[in-house]
Amino acid sequence: MRCPKCNADNDQVVDTRANQEGSVIRRRRRCITCGFRYTTYERFERHLPRVVKRDGRTEAFDREKLARGLTIACQKRPIPGNAIDRLIDDVMDDVEALNAAEVASAKIGTLVMERLRALDPVAYVRFASVYSAFDELSQFIDLIRAITPASAPKRKPRRA
Ligand SMILES: [Zn+2]
Repeated sequence: MRCPKCNADNDQVVDTRANQEGSVIRRRRRCITCGFRYTTYERFERHLPRVVKRDGRTEAFDREKLARGLTIACQKRPIPGNAIDRLIDDVMDDVEALNAAEVASAKIGTLVMERLRALDPVAYVRFASVYSAFDELSQFIDLIRAITPASAPKRKPRRA
């Protein structure tokens, strides 16, 4: 780990501890070159089920893709910066707790919508309007992108 102060790659771990749940490891490090002390965090790799798409194919759970879709749904809404990350963490906890080898993309969409509804109604409607037409994660994320004001041509409201 390079020192954030002098950039030397010469550090020593002086303290290691886990949080209460044991899900995050915090390491205090000291740069041997300049003596600067800093902290790094390490998170356990999750064991998430594979996502079964509507057409039956499976793919790995893609946190970044979900984050992009949610960021777009939440655009210009009064939502705190870390709320989307927390929502995704919560959804991933839910998905992990299913303790299944595979989970339908529709199930993940439902879990996201339940939490998004509590967070912000407009973002929820944006997400749900797309999601209800398409069960597949990638499809509704593409559509969220398409209906945002910056990039979208006007489209007539449609019934689900
Ligand atoms: Zn240093």
